[in-house]
Amino acid sequence: MDTDVAVVGGGVAGMTAAIFTARAGLDTLVVDHGESILARNAHLENVPGFPLGVNARTFLSLVREQAEENGVDFREARVTRLTETDEGLRLRVEDADGESDLSTAYAVVASWSDTDHLAELDGVGLTKRGSKTYVDVDDFGRTGVDGLYAAGRVAEKPHQTVVAAGHGAEVALTLIDDSDEPFYHDWVAPEGYFTDRGREVPPGCEEISAEEREQREQASLERLREAFAEPQDEPPTMHPSVADDE
Ligand SMILES: Cc1cc2nc3c(=O)[nH]c(=O)nc-3n(C[C@H](O)[C@H](O)[C@H](O)COP(=O)(O)OP(=O)(O)OC[C@H]3O[C@@H](n4cnc5c(N)ncnc54)[C@H](O)[C@@H]3O)c2cc1C
Repeated sequence: MDTDVAVVGGGVAGMTAAIFTARAGLDTLVVDHGESILARNAHLENVPGFPLGVNARTFLSLVREQAEENGVDFREARVTRLTETDEGLRLRVEDADGESDLSTAYAVVASWSDTDHLAELDGVGLTKRGSKTYVDVDDFGRTGVDGLYAAGRVAEKPHQTVVAAGHGAEVALTLIDDSDEPFYHDWVAPEGYFTDRGREVPPGCEEISAEEREQREQASLERLREAFAEPQDEPPTMHPSVADDE
């Protein structure tokens, strides 16, 4: 297998799903082509934790950095076909060098608004509403194909960043639960939280000392100061149908 988990689409849902699967110990590759629709936002004001909002492009690049920090690999390519094999799933990917195949045990489709790559996959339900096509999933993000999940707007979740991120996380937790990876919660707890009660630190959890906690907080403060020191110079992407009058 080329990877344990392949995520189709590196937008809000896909990157969040990838952070969770990678942190659970699964090799995770995000294949992304194009940009998140969130890059069109003018100012992001409904994501918890930012009292006056945050620049959406800054937000997206920080989520990407967070994924990379947690071991997620990224590949700039379009997924053109997804098929089932005896061992798992196969993705046909297309990039500047041409076409190639990629094998994976699990895949998360987070490719709003593209479902063309699922056309040859019997067992995946697709629902068309107006000009949009959605992937049918159960309450946990599973499709009709073993090992294949869908997350975010493409799974017909409401069209908000936090909802897409939350769904990506929830679908990733379902995938982790379906895999052999031992997992309890993705928690970082203070030293002694479990062990002082005679419990082992559960899989997926971590206990850290006060010194380690201070170091991590210091590093995160420095990074955030740097990230938010200057305004973002990248403007929002305009809707493709809006004429460029320049
Ligand atoms: C103008 C505008 C303003 C918005 N403002 C807000 C707001 O203020 N607050 C809010 O909560 N939400 C806002 N949203 C909505 C928010 O952007 C979306 O709900 C959210 O991005 C959906 O996340 P997603 O991961 O499902 O899709 P996306 O974030 O769009 O990610 C999908 C990714 O998949 C990639 N992809 C697609 N097909 C393929 C393929 N075949 N192979 C590889 N990669 C592929 C795409 O390039 C993209 O990177 C706004 C949207 C728009 C258009």
